[in-house]
Amino acid sequence: MNAPFRNFVGGEWVEGVEAVANINPSDTTDIVGHYVRTDRAGLDAAVAAAKAAFPAWSRSVPYARHEVLKKVSDEIFARRDELGRLLAREEGKTLAEGIGEVTRAGQIFGFFAGECLRLAGETLASVRPGVGVEVTREPLGVIGLITPWNFPIAIPAWKIAPALAYGNCVLFKPAELVPGSAWALSEIIARAGLPPGAFNLVMGSGASVGQAMLDHPDVAAISFTGSVATGRRVAAAGAARFARVQLEMGGKNPLVILDDADLATAVECTINGAFFSTGQRCTASSRMIVTDAIHDRFVDAVVERLRGLKVDDALDPTTHIGPVVDEGQLAQDLDYIRVAEAEGGRRVFGGERLSRARAGFYLEPALFTETAPDMRINREEVFGPVASVIRVKDYEEALAVANGTEFGLSAGICTTSLKHATHFKRNAEAGMVMVNLPTAGVDFHVPFGGRKGSSYGPREQGSYAREFYTVVKTAYTLS
Ligand code: ADP
Repeated sequence: MNAPFRNFVGGEWVEGVEAVANINPSDTTDIVGHYVRTDRAGLDAAVAAAKAAFPAWSRSVPYARHEVLKKVSDEIFARRDELGRLLAREEGKTLAEGIGEVTRAGQIFGFFAGECLRLAGETLASVRPGVGVEVTREPLGVIGLITPWNFPIAIPAWKIAPALAYGNCVLFKPAELVPGSAWALSEIIARAGLPPGAFNLVMGSGASVGQAMLDHPDVAAISFTGSVATGRRVAAAGAARFARVQLEMGGKNPLVILDDADLATAVECTINGAFFSTGQRCTASSRMIVTDAIHDRFVDAVVERLRGLKVDDALDPTTHIGPVVDEGQLAQDLDYIRVAEAEGGRRVFGGERLSRARAGFYLEPALFTETAPDMRINREEVFGPVASVIRVKDYEEALAVANGTEFGLSAGICTTSLKHATHFKRNAEAGMVMVNLPTAGVDFHVPFGGRKGSSYGPREQGSYAREFYTVVKTAYTLS
């Protein structure tokens, strides 16, 4: 067993105030490692280091930043099997999903390595004779990145890479449940040629290190992905001291299935979108909104497909669905299963805790029918392998139900009608719309984000990321 994995501050590996065991959710006797946690004082030291690094790093030539990010990307690709395995062991997503996520992290660093060289400004003529106007983008300063446990390497990558690409200094606070993937990524970044202090890893609790980051006057901006409750705190803290914030939070993503849908496509979109990654994706489909004539055939086919899925150890290559991330999340999932039943939902498949060869947090994927849009199961995010079916009479009702939620991250439709697909793309109140595709599963080079209660602030990913990670300057010159 390795000695406690430490934080990275000011170019050095530093001790924390305590070390905590990181447990494999597929096998609770397997300890991935011990990882330190820091406190407010440790965070203050990291902010000071990042602040000191900013003047030089923010003025570094774009090619220097390109080289760092390219190096990180190359190493992630070279080690994707090993890192994917670590991710599966730590978070419980399957090996294939883990390797896929690591690949995506490599792609993101590669994309932003290119973006370093592509950041351009504009030159305009002034309304006054002889005066020229330049519009340029500058980095913000020290940026706090607060990430969740469900994508332990991809979400950190899509915040860290643009932050560094545009010349900001980074404080990275990963979720308490997944320090292993965060540490492995940080160790790669630490060897990539950054000046000391430009990147800092500050593992610790949300209540102490996370909150301290929100309150620190020298943290210019916070990019956060996590729950709505914490997102609200981040927004309030940012507003109180005029710090820029970007929030990605929950979803209650609809998948509309119309009578004219290709049944096999609809079933695969449902299985993938609702149950893969154990349903622990903010883009997961949790409400299947199904028109009358296809409803029964669709439910039968989904149940048949669910019967063939193997729920087991994430590291077993034959597993389709790994465990839930921890005991607390499993309890929440089981609680929602009880709530759905109490509200009159019909459990047509799954929903029981499972035991396997090793002790872990295994849950049979659950499907409910006969549910109504206003039930809690259709309004609140479960964040587990639990989905419900809402029966509707036609497309118009389906669209109204799809939009009748306080969230607006991703929305899908399965149909062979060009008219309905086109109308849905235009009228779904969501940041991302999927036609004949699962609601989850997005590309790395295009904007990611939602509307309403799902997101707040500019989009993440792709070239749109610069909206958050840079500030615009307008300069006038009389020549
Ligand atoms: P989840 O329910 O998915 O764990 P959270 O919003 O609690 O969602 O956690 C997402 C991230 O926010 C984690 O890194 C967590 O440590 C952090 N966090 C939790 N509470 C706070 C807080 N008060 N201030 C800042 N960060 C926090």
